[in-house]
Amino acid sequence: MLVSRETIRQILSSYEPRKIKIATICSHTALQIFHGARQEGIKTVGICTEDRRRIYEAFPLGCPDEFLVVDDPSKIPAGELADMNAILVPHGSLVEYAGSRLASLRVPMLGNRESLQWEADRGKMFEWLKAAGIQVPATLEPDKIDRPCVVKLAGAKGGRGYRVVSTPEEFYEHFEGMNVTVQEYLIGVRAYPHYFYSPIHKDGFRVAEGRLELIGIDRRFESNIDEAYRTQMAGLSFTPSFTVVGNELLVMRESLLSDIMDMGKAVVEAAERLFGGIPGPFCLETVVDENLQFYAFEISARIVAGTNIYPQGSPYTIYQWKEPMSMGRRIAREVKLAAKAGKLPKIIY
Ligand code: ATP
Repeated sequence: MLVSRETIRQILSSYEPRKIKIATICSHTALQIFHGARQEGIKTVGICTEDRRRIYEAFPLGCPDEFLVVDDPSKIPAGELADMNAILVPHGSLVEYAGSRLASLRVPMLGNRESLQWEADRGKMFEWLKAAGIQVPATLEPDKIDRPCVVKLAGAKGGRGYRVVSTPEEFYEHFEGMNVTVQEYLIGVRAYPHYFYSPIHKDGFRVAEGRLELIGIDRRFESNIDEAYRTQMAGLSFTPSFTVVGNELLVMRESLLSDIMDMGKAVVEAAERLFGGIPGPFCLETVVDENLQFYAFEISARIVAGTNIYPQGSPYTIYQWKEPMSMGRRIAREVKLAAKAGKLPKIIY
């Protein structure tokens, strides 16, 4: 069950603002979250299974100041974290491990935890995108499949198990009885802009009561579709698959920035109307077609792994910050500023 804002506010009011720590699970974007916090002088806690610890110790500047060793990363020790004065930063692995339990965790969390419930449910996520006026791919009933469609399994699995089908027969051959979504296959260039919405800053690109920043843009490498040309050149045939393996930096033509910023603005404003806002990082997964039209097929209401490409700042943060600014550091900076100004409840739930 969703813990109330009031409960989280009470826990937060017992925190010593100058001793706030940043905590997350050692996975996904943890290196840059810990590194960024270190750059901002904030202590960190890494929730970690014993076997993972050595990986983080291999990167001393991305290693948390202390480890909270757990047997099972899906059971987040909320009480212990609250006792440690820690703010939990949700990332993709944390959302996947904790699932619906995330909503009930009695520990202050960066952002609005309600947004994570909206991203977890594909129906609600599309309602959010549509409320923002963003174009989305058509969703089809299996019997109505009349064009290439991507079939998606439930939950954020990094594209694992997805498959393109073009007819109802093909669908039933592979997905009979399964909990899936059938989505029109978008043709174009994939672009995943990473945003940060700050309700604290009152300058720059004004959105709602604060400012929207574009922190970076990535594109993913997915297996085996993104190496298709090599496979074909080698004379091999294959069934396209979409399992995320890594990310690469994307810089878009400057004239498209207007669409990118306006989409981010619309997503923030729709979030305000639907469930009280989305402070902190978020990402849109889009495809830009040959007419330079954007279509979005997913919102991630938290830091995404594509931000790992630029721990020293991106081709966009360089025009906003004089110091190298990663998404991890941007999060820590916001926590620091909000704590100083007594505004933590604005960015925490
Ligand atoms: P994550 O939560 O990590 O983003 P996921 O399991 O929710 O992953 P999606 O992001 O929805 O998966 O999709 C995985 C990949 O499949 C995308 O990065 C994209 O390459 C491809 N894909 C998804 N939807 C479409 C679509 N409608 N048209 C074309 N390609 C798509």
